[in-house]
Amino acid sequence: MRKHIVAGNWKMNNDLAQSVALISDLKRQNQTSTAEVMIAPTFTNLWHTTENLKSSPIEVIAQNMHFAKNGAYTGEVSAEMLKSIGVNTVILGHSERRAYFNETDEMLAKKVDTALESEMRFIFCFGEELSDRQANTQETVVANQIKKALFHLKASAFKNIVLAYEPVWAIGTGETASPDQAQEMHQFIRKTLRDTYGDSVANDMSILYGGSVKPANAKEIFSKPDVDGGLIGGAALKAEDFYAIVNAF
Ligand code: PGA
Repeated sequence: MRKHIVAGNWKMNNDLAQSVALISDLKRQNQTSTAEVMIAPTFTNLWHTTENLKSSPIEVIAQNMHFAKNGAYTGEVSAEMLKSIGVNTVILGHSERRAYFNETDEMLAKKVDTALESEMRFIFCFGEELSDRQANTQETVVANQIKKALFHLKASAFKNIVLAYEPVWAIGTGETASPDQAQEMHQFIRKTLRDTYGDSVANDMSILYGGSVKPANAKEIFSKPDVDGGLIGGAALKAEDFYAIVNAF
């Protein structure tokens, strides 16, 4: 059965002191839902965060990694390095990585393979731009992103994958896809999986929605049958807001 997941992506926010303060606020929150909770701090904050949350149900995950196992890649971090500090899940393909750091579908397919070879789970992000939606090509764009990075895999690999649909026009803009727009796309994504991999991959896949999810809109978005959780940016930077979203299930 698929899981409910709420993951907070801190992006390039929180220095060490801010990160320590947010972690202690997070520990004070009360979880009333059964959703899996994850947070993705920056690389410099990963080690102390994993140490600090060892006995907590919050899973600490990474925002990115390189596809190479090691070597001359100045400024990069590998899957094995993440695993060595207890980080077993990574976000791949966030739209900011695609837009500002030129991550292509081909590069993401390599990252996907490295993550799986390293026995890491990953949250694979994708989503259309505003111009795609205006041209009504969002389904083709999304299907291509998923197929190019993931459809060389065997069905058994999908148990280590979480999908995150994040329409680029809704990220950090305050503009959210309507709950019906989210449901429509999530249903299409599940159908795309079903057409190639069959019912069990499609039915067991957790598909998260991301893009301006807030305490005020989370309940309605999460009530949709094909929305299994959220990838939260801005609202993950305040513990109360984040847990209001975690508890919206
Ligand atoms: P946002 O970011 O919640 O600030 O829109 C979402 C994301 O980029 O994952």
